[in-house]
Amino acid sequence: MEIPERWRKTNLASMSNSEIEEMIADMRKADRSVNLPIPFLPETIHKISAMFHCKRCGRCCIGGAEGVFLNQLDIKRLSKGMEMSEKQFVDEFTFISDGRHFLPFPCPFYDAKSSLCIVYQFRPDKCKLFPFYPSSNITITQDTNPSANKVSAISISVRCPEGRDIAMRLLKSYRDSNKR
Ligand code: SF4
Ligand code: SF4
Repeated sequence: MEIPERWRKTNLASMSNSEIEEMIADMRKADRSVNLPIPFLPETIHKISAMFHCKRCGRCCIGGAEGVFLNQLDIKRLSKGMEMSEKQFVDEFTFISDGRHFLPFPCPFYDAKSSLCIVYQFRPDKCKLFPFYPSSNITITQDTNPSANKVSAISISVRCPEGRDIAMRLLKSYRDSNKR
């Protein structure tokens, strides 16, 4: 599902609470991430992670618009952990899209009975970060050091119920702090 056009043009500063909630619900339906005007830096990630309490709902492992992206180190680590050759692993578990490897959804390593990842210690970087990522298309300058290089903004997957709630709280608080 595409994101409705109105959310592409909306200015956060003028949005009401219900508009923010509606926008996030639409982003969720479209399985998109919400970009926040916050730099993706260890200290901000640490702060946001402290608000995060996984509900163990499994939504991150069961489904989404695309699969779980795997980088070369993920493939190396997972195949070694599973005592397979990289080729065997890739052939058996991944699909390729735009020349990149992905695990399909539902993830073959999700155990629905226990709600656990059976390759947890070898899991892909994307899963370690979920639901917080550096935005691939938005950069911002750090407030405290305007001369610093631009860094990626934080992007939150709102497929995750905790990610959705945190994104909502942060967007509302950012809007309010910019009204003063
Ligand atoms: S979707 Fe979010 S809350 Fe649910 S299991 Fe994954 S990380 Fe935890
Ligand atoms: S590798 Fe593990 S954490 Fe990642 S999607 Fe699969 S089951 Fe979930």
